[in-house]
Formats: sequence, C-alpha cells, structure tokens
Amino acid sequence: MTTIALVAHDQKKDALVAWAKTHEAALQRHTLYATGTTGGRLQAETNLTITALKSGPLGGDAQLGAMIAEGKLPVLIFFIDPLSAMPHDVDVKSLIRLAILYDTLLAVNEETAAAVIASLPAT
Ligand code: PGA
Repeated sequence: MTTIALVAHDQKKDALVAWAKTHEAALQRHTLYATGTTGGRLQAETNLTITALKSGPLGGDAQLGAMIAEGKLPVLIFFIDPLSAMPHDVDVKSLIRLAILYDTLLAVNEETAAAVIASLPAT
C-alpha cells in the first residue's frame, strides 16, 4: 500500500475523474489524498476512499508539499492545466519543486499516471 495524492486544476478535473474511474481497482489498493475540490469530485463520482485536504489555492498544495518534505508522500498525480494562469502559481511551483527535490514519483498526465500506478506494489 502506497500513499498517493491526486490533484487536478479546474480544466483538468474531468480528465482526472475519468482517469480515476478507469484505474479505480488499482487505486483502491492504496492510501489516497487529494486537494479539496479534486477530492470532493472524486468522493462524489467514484467509490474511492480519499482524505481531502484544503483546496489547492487555500493551502492544499502546501499541505501536500509538507507531506513530501516529511517523507510521507511518495507518489503525486498532478494534472496541471498547461493553458491557464493560476492565482496560486507559487504554490504549484513549490509543490513541483519539492516533488523533484525529494525524488517523488510525479505524473502530470494520464499516460504517465497509468505507468506509475502499474509500477506500484499491490500490497
Ligand atoms: P483543488 O486544488 O483540488 O482544491 O481545486 C487543485 C489545485 O489547484 O491545486
């Protein structure tokens, strides 16, 4: 069982929910966290058990960054919107920077996320 965080920017939330439905059986074997709005969507539209943190712009990205810094988050699935400016861009950059710094498995699109999930031990 691995701890995984799921985050999607607004324009990517539909894509993340669809991806999570496709990979629901695999995701169920792990401990799942999400930023607030992403987590709410996943709780409403899948059967996954997810701990929802604060919304990303209100500190959720920072909470995930802290988990990474503390060695508590080895996998981050982060569907970034490449076409919109974010008011919380500094938080997004901080989260990505910490994921790089701590050698976190970081997936930013469906294909990479599928490869990451497939690579994890099932138990
Ligand atoms: P949200 O946060 O899931 O609360 O929308 C995502 C983000 O923008 O980091």
